[in-house]
Amino acid sequence: MSGTYKAAVITAPKTFEFWDVPIPEPGNGEVLIKVKAVGICTWEQRIYQSTKPDTFPFWGGHEIAGVVVKIGPGVRNDLQEGDHVAIASLTRCGECYFCRRGLDNLCLYAETPMPGQPKGPRGFSEYLLVRGYECYKISPGLDFTQAALSEPVACCTRSVRQLEVAFGDTVVIQGAGIMGLLHAKLCKLRGATVIIAEPDAARREAALKAGADYALNPLEEDPAGYVRRQINPQGAEIVVFTAGGPAAFQQAVTTVAAGGRLMLYGSMHPSGTVTIDANDIHYREYRLLGSSRHDKESFREAVALLSSGSIKVDDMVSTVLPFDQIEAGFQLALAGGQYRVVLRIAG
Ligand SMILES: [Zn+2]
Ligand SMILES: [Zn+2]
Repeated sequence: MSGTYKAAVITAPKTFEFWDVPIPEPGNGEVLIKVKAVGICTWEQRIYQSTKPDTFPFWGGHEIAGVVVKIGPGVRNDLQEGDHVAIASLTRCGECYFCRRGLDNLCLYAETPMPGQPKGPRGFSEYLLVRGYECYKISPGLDFTQAALSEPVACCTRSVRQLEVAFGDTVVIQGAGIMGLLHAKLCKLRGATVIIAEPDAARREAALKAGADYALNPLEEDPAGYVRRQINPQGAEIVVFTAGGPAAFQQAVTTVAAGGRLMLYGSMHPSGTVTIDANDIHYREYRLLGSSRHDKESFREAVALLSSGSIKVDDMVSTVLPFDQIEAGFQLALAGGQYRVVLRIAG
């Protein structure tokens, strides 16, 4: 193949430029993808607004679905040209301490750029050169817009795996953003009772539509009190923090039952400093867990769940825009009140 393709690169705070980039030939172990859909995630929104000069140029876009155009030599992924794929755009070196421990989500080289390309996952573009192991085949019946959400689903399947959600568990999820809704859907698949704690009424409504059993406003009603009164006087087996800052964390600690598990899934901005009584962990034996990014297995799980229709994410796509309206997409995402804004790329 020859010619060029369009890439949307953030070159300064709140500034996109469309670059013409030569279409690359896939080398050893590499695959060329025609990007069909790419989500605008909170991470990219933060970079878009960043004022740190060394951030730019930044070529974002990590929630990606597309079609295999050309396969380089040495790809051992059972791929064929024309296959529909979701892209797990993180390098796994296979050799570092974390890869060897089975924690490839923490690979020391997870964000290594492709040789000769600017930093960033590069999904905001018409074509994308990836490593073979980053491609996960999806069902041809799965819409590309939904498939682009494989990445956030994979981050959540990893979290839910660590939580070992069991039949009949009560799970309190703090925050009904996209990560809160995905946790709700996955925990329902595991047979749990799901309580959402979310201050925004429209988001509580969305959580109930997504399958949550109950949604409360944590500024008016303490989830610990609700669970202990209505479900189990000992508290919730599982609490998942996805949003709400230190105040929500304090509620999480009092909500979790002795012997339960508390997942710090969301990060806190600007600071994550919280107060915790070490004796409370000692005597009540609850476990504090963290989960960051996705690993190879959780991405495989996410793609299987989406391809089979076991989990649907259409309710999390608020707006679909053509690629050339990326700037408008970012404005919309930043204005709030949206779940995902997804860009579709024609051709
Ligand atoms: Zn994301
Ligand atoms: Zn590694």
